[in-house]
Amino acid sequence: MICLSGVKIIDPANHIDGDIGDLWIEGDRIVAAPPAQDGAEMIDARGWIAAPGGIEIHSHIAGAQMAMARKFAVREDRMDAGLLLPPAQIAQAYLKMGYTTVFDAAMSPMLSRLTQDDLKAMRGLDCGAYTLVSEQICVVDAIKKQDDQALKSALAWLLTRSGGYALKLVNPGVGLAWWMGKLLSSLDDALDGDRLTQRRIILAIAQAAKELSLPHPIHLHAGNLGRPGSWQSFCETVLALEGLPAHLCHIQFYCYGKDDRGRSCSAAEQVVETIAMRDNLTFDVGQIVFGPAMALTCDLQLVEWLHRVGSGKWTCRLLEGEGGMGLLPLEYKIKDPSSAVQWATGLELLLRFPDPTRLFLSTDYPNGGPFIAYPRIISWLMDGEARQKMLAQVHPSAKLRTSLADIDRQYTLTEVVQMTSAGPARALGLQDRGHLGAGALADIRCYQPQSDIENMFANPILVIKRGQVVLRDGQLKLPSSGNHLSVEPDWDKDREVIFKEQLQTNTTIDPRYLGWLERGFHENREVIPCR
Ligand SMILES: [Zn+2]
Repeated sequence: MICLSGVKIIDPANHIDGDIGDLWIEGDRIVAAPPAQDGAEMIDARGWIAAPGGIEIHSHIAGAQMAMARKFAVREDRMDAGLLLPPAQIAQAYLKMGYTTVFDAAMSPMLSRLTQDDLKAMRGLDCGAYTLVSEQICVVDAIKKQDDQALKSALAWLLTRSGGYALKLVNPGVGLAWWMGKLLSSLDDALDGDRLTQRRIILAIAQAAKELSLPHPIHLHAGNLGRPGSWQSFCETVLALEGLPAHLCHIQFYCYGKDDRGRSCSAAEQVVETIAMRDNLTFDVGQIVFGPAMALTCDLQLVEWLHRVGSGKWTCRLLEGEGGMGLLPLEYKIKDPSSAVQWATGLELLLRFPDPTRLFLSTDYPNGGPFIAYPRIISWLMDGEARQKMLAQVHPSAKLRTSLADIDRQYTLTEVVQMTSAGPARALGLQDRGHLGAGALADIRCYQPQSDIENMFANPILVIKRGQVVLRDGQLKLPSSGNHLSVEPDWDKDREVIFKEQLQTNTTIDPRYLGWLERGFHENREVIPCR
């Protein structure tokens, strides 16, 4: 048994905001204060702050895309910048920041073995991955036929067989369009007669996810990412959901208007106006940070467009039966007008959005930059002076084309914990974390309060994962392995033979040889119930 005594507790999910108290840990759980306290390891935590461990809702940390990016980066000096780390180092970097649960944002079912192997190598972290479903043959076929039962089974089959946690949609239909040599321009572009459009794919899968009672609703990467004027199509996508629950990712990249010279400017205010009242939705920001980054996406139309507007190298790989993936090295420069507008727009969005339990911190790693920049981003949110100082250094377009300079709001410590822990836990349907109540997993981060906010968040004084001290006084103790979080929704198993046949008929793949269909998972698999 461990006791953190005399600690200042920040636990917004339980409405505790800075009360001084003791936190008791037995095994891997937080427990109520026991009557007999002999033999407990007492940690004098007076003067420290304790918060639930950080939860990453959207980061690209594993699998085939990362492997491709690492290979691609070898000649780009990007490995040295700490951008594309190997799996074990990714886990250590998250743990050192006090993050204890991390989700990979895009797992190809076909190549899910690679993702699972990477997650297994992330010792100490609890991990999961979102299964890419929006271009899958069996999914598209069921939507075309308007066969809701087949669709639910197809989605559950892909999730279960790939070891996924949630359904990921990436600019739905973009892969199909790409295979057909078409480009998608609106929600209602016909992909196959008028029976298949982006709108229909989004609605059908969002409805199916709800009926499958998945702990996390659809995780949606909307279309038109990064374009000047993208805020309008983004808001159309929000409305197209018709009130169904969803998480929309890296939404900074859609908060752009167009000025009279056709350049991007911030439309964060318009986007916040549309999304703030829609309680069915959660979001992550996709904040950019200055320095090297890597566009790494299944949105092939996006990566091709980035190549055209920015030149430079890019590559893409098509995957039979499920769209494709592409990548392109990026650099956000402090004196570059577009980068400056992107940086300021993300902060403006975070500061204008009223509810940190629904808009979460992310850099869409590695698309917006490294996740180890979170402490710096938090310092810009909590300290108006630090923000203005940074704003003075970046290209003046950040002041001219966004209204960041006019915003006074400063995040409180509680809001930071809501944005990095309590909110993501709720959005992910993880009831045993994101808070410090009795029965919760003992995933805890402690900080020594100080005026240097970035340093405080970058260097927790203590991190506990599942009741084990994994970081103390800057020293990482080799953590034990973490759990692999997945789901097992109910489905009609008789349909599996049909899904396999569809693959066999429409691709050159023999399903018998697909690693993802029957072989083993992470040994510490934890199934989160569908409710
Ligand atoms: Zn992403």
